[in-house]
Formats: sequence, structure tokens, C-alpha cells
Amino acid sequence: MTKTYVAAQTVEEAVRALSQTGATIFAGGTDLMPRWFRNLVPKPTAVVDIKGVEQLRSIKLADGDVSVGACVLMSELETHSIIRAAAPILAEAAARIACPQIRNRATVGGNLCNASPAADAAVPLLLLDAVLDVASSGSKGLATREIPIAEFFRGPGSTALRPGEVLTCIRFKPLPTGSFCAWDKFGTRPAMEIAVASVGVVLHRVEGRVVGARVAYGSVAPIPLRGHQAESALIGRLLSDEVVDLCVTAARKEISPITDVRASEGYRREIVGVLLRRMLENAAGF
Ligand SMILES: Cc1cc2nc3c(=O)[nH]c(=O)nc-3n(C[C@H](O)[C@H](O)[C@H](O)COP(=O)(O)OP(=O)(O)OC[C@H]3O[C@@H](n4cnc5c(N)ncnc54)[C@H](O)[C@@H]3O)c2cc1C
Repeated sequence: MTKTYVAAQTVEEAVRALSQTGATIFAGGTDLMPRWFRNLVPKPTAVVDIKGVEQLRSIKLADGDVSVGACVLMSELETHSIIRAAAPILAEAAARIACPQIRNRATVGGNLCNASPAADAAVPLLLLDAVLDVASSGSKGLATREIPIAEFFRGPGSTALRPGEVLTCIRFKPLPTGSFCAWDKFGTRPAMEIAVASVGVVLHRVEGRVVGARVAYGSVAPIPLRGHQAESALIGRLLSDEVVDLCVTAARKEISPITDVRASEGYRREIVGVLLRRMLENAAGF
């Protein structure tokens, strides 16, 4: 049974309260509450609610870096002018999460820290090479460190966060002007659907030749995954039919989907190829 509820007003208050044994961070609660109500996890001895921490609620563009507070809502990511200009793939992914009611509660930090392979904000943030700022209670006040997003996910429900650490901020550079970017997810219905598979691509080309490529996948491995082999298949090449085929083949090889209630392993492999091919063909037409 939960014995303590702390409504933190500052990051310092949150990490101090979190240092209690058995305490859990609570942001929007859209992942935590269903799990508690279905008795899938034991209720914590203390809940540290961080929704009211103003410092975790802002979106800023300063010195060439976009910073997004961990408690920014999906509905804010969806509509914010900085995100729409600097990272339209993140705005698009946020807009496709669940329904407006959930998007008005669900935070971007909760989406990452919940560490579902299907977390929709994870693929765009992998494509953006985001860096995550985390804080904990140190001997001289707040202790902070940063974790590159590529090192954050460890497995389903598991992250690089150490006990007592809170994700405070997500930082990334805006996508370069003129780059092609796309993100899409496939589900068996158009709304309120956890992805069967998701794919994202960012391409930078000079005279048609790919000089920079980022590919990432969701729901097709134990963690949201960067597609390094698919990227290698693109670098230095023009987007011909043959190169698109090579990239799709590489993508299907480097993912490791499972069969579950949503789709079979083979269906997921197929869908990743379809989504990726569609994006690359769109890019070739630009
Ligand atoms: C009906 C429904 C539909 C959904 N559809 C989708 C969907 O389409 N796509 C999708 O990706 N997700 C979906 N979700 C899942 C969920 O809404 C998101 O993952 C959401 O972003 C979680 O954020 P939250 O603030 O509610 O997290 P919470 O439930 O508050 O927390 C989730 C986990 O993260 C930890 N945590 C939260 N914030 C921090 C922090 N700053 N530092 C450290 N740890 C932290 C918590 O302790 C907890 O373990 C859906 C959920 C529901 C109920």
C-alpha cells in the first residue's frame, strides 16, 4: 500500500523524496496507473509526483540546442512551434499517441523512462541523437549527468537510470535545413493503437547523394533501435531502386521482432520493410 505522496515543486525536492526506499516517480501516470490497478506491479511505499515542477515543463531553443523538459506533455510536443520547426518527426509521433485525453496527461519523460520497445517518442529522439539530462541527490546538493539516448534503453522496462535518478531534460540539435525526415507507425487501427512497428528516417543529401543517414525502429526489438546497417546501405549513394532494396534488406536483418498479441514476428519484419521503402521512395521523389 502507498503510504506517502509527495507533490514536488522543485527537482531538488523530487530527488530528495526519491531517495526514500521504495519511492517511485509519478509524472502523467498513464503507464503507472493501469499497471497498479491491474496489480501488475506492487504499489510503491511513496509516490513522488513531479507534474508540478515548473522547471520540467518548458520547451526552449537556446544556443542552437532544443531542450524539452521531462514533464512536457505529448499534446504540447504536438503543437509547439519550436518542435514543429526543429523536429517535425517528434511532433508527428506525439500527435499519433493514443487519444487527446491521454496526450494531455502523458509526458515525454514518462514515455522514455517506461522503456517500452513501442514508446513512440523514442524513435524520433533516437533519430535526433538526443542527450538526456538526469539528476539525483548528491553529497553537495544536486548531482547531474547526461546519457546519450542510444545508451538509455537496456531492455523492456529497463533503462540506464540509476536508483534515485530523475530524468530532467531532453536535448537535441534541430534537424538541418533541407534534410528529409519521416516517421510512421503501423497499427491495426488508426487511433488508440500501440505500434505493431514504427520506422523513422532522416537523410541529408548533396546533389542527390546521401551524405548523412539515420534510421530507427520501434516495436521490433527489445528496445527502440538505431538501424546502423540500413544507414550504411544508404551512405554515399543515390536513392536508386537497387539502393532502396539493399536498405530494406539490411533493415529486415538487423531487427529482432517477436510474435505477440499484436502481430507475428514475420509480419513485423514485412511492415518495417514496407514503411521504410515508402519513406525512401518519397525521399527519392523530393
Ligand atoms: C490508453 C493508452 C494508450 C496509450 N497509447 C500509447 C501510444 O500510442 N504510444 C505510446 O508510446 N504510448 C502509449 N501509451 C503509454 C503512455 O501514455 C506513454 O508511455 C506516456 O508518455 C507515459 O508518460 P507518463 O507521464 O504518463 O508516465 P508515468 O506513467 O507517470 O511513468 C511511467 C514510468 O516512467 C517513470 N518516470 C516518469 N517520469 C520520469 C522522470 N522524469 N524520471 C524518471 N522516471 C520517470 C515512472 O516512475 C514510471 O516507471 C498509452 C497509454 C494508455 C493508458
